[in-house]
Amino acid sequence: MGSPVLFFLVFCLLALFVHAADLYKVLELSKSASEQDIRKAYKRLSRKYHPDKNKDPDAEEKFVEIAHAYEVLSDPTKRQIYDRHGEEGLRAHEGGQQHYANPFDMFQNFFGGGGHHNQQVRRGPSSVSEFEVSLSDIYSGASIDFMVKKRILCDHCRGTGAASSDDIHTCSACGGSGVRIMRQQIMPGMFTQSQVTCNECGGRGKVIGRKCPHCQGNKVMDHTQHYTLEIPRGAPEGHEVVFEGEADESPDWEAGDIVLRIRSKKERGGWRRKESGLYWKETISVEEALLGFERNLTHLDGHIVELKRQGVTQPGYVQTIKGEGMPLFEGTGYGDLYVEYNVVLPTEISPETRKRLLIAFHPETHGAHSKDEL
Ligand SMILES: [Zn+2]
Ligand SMILES: [Zn+2]
Repeated sequence: MGSPVLFFLVFCLLALFVHAADLYKVLELSKSASEQDIRKAYKRLSRKYHPDKNKDPDAEEKFVEIAHAYEVLSDPTKRQIYDRHGEEGLRAHEGGQQHYANPFDMFQNFFGGGGHHNQQVRRGPSSVSEFEVSLSDIYSGASIDFMVKKRILCDHCRGTGAASSDDIHTCSACGGSGVRIMRQQIMPGMFTQSQVTCNECGGRGKVIGRKCPHCQGNKVMDHTQHYTLEIPRGAPEGHEVVFEGEADESPDWEAGDIVLRIRSKKERGGWRRKESGLYWKETISVEEALLGFERNLTHLDGHIVELKRQGVTQPGYVQTIKGEGMPLFEGTGYGDLYVEYNVVLPTEISPETRKRLLIAFHPETHGAHSKDEL
């Protein structure tokens, strides 16, 4: 169904069903959500449920619901009416008939298909940090809970810093523009004009009467938030996991991202990894080096790899075991395992052992029929 007309028809039909749902729930928000929260929620959910990407049969209905919720909640007037009187109030406000924007146009506008209004929003700084995890977590994949201390918009004043909406006044010094024109005489009869930031309102154009008691007018608060880092199997070193819009919030910007770079912990004497290859050092005795051996190696996830050698194994010899390396990232199958053998010699040997070895190595001089003594 590619035709826009058909889309529109479907959308009109769907619009009939959207009334019942709580608009905040549709955007997965609480009533105290800030304007940024609402933008963020729309950005995330509308992309998730866009019928071009989401083939779930219910996705389109959900997409329309999301657009409608965003249309109301992103408009301060409509939001206030909705908060006080619900959908009924909105209908009364618009003279009994409700007009919804076409959700597909709305999506286009939001993501920059037309108009550039939304591109102008300033982005806050992103935070990038290294996150060390065990190699076994990368081998098997894992979910790791962690906490982030960050600043969030005060949920009481929604980041305005004012005790109530009646406490936000237009700055009288600059008339709300945030700037003032300075006239300076540079020589008799000659003036220059320059624009300076209004110092009454700090360039915001608004002054606050009573401050929000919750954040003392700071607009933001310290907050500790829990997240879950999903480590994909075989994630390469430095693999970035992005938590979109989760960095410090501020009324002056749209929050940046929290970026975590996954690194494997260096554990001494343990497993090492190079891309999809795994490296292990195994120590064997002289006897095993000479005669061969069978050993069990416990892999990163606990499964057993049989190490088997017949005949002589040189110190430093590297045995390649196919398919026992790291899982291939975003693929199927595994890399290879490289086992390097280290041979330990005994610190001393008993006279008896020495005798037997001499016989073994020099049977012609020390053999059973020889009369030589040790
Ligand atoms: Zn506050
Ligand atoms: Zn001002």
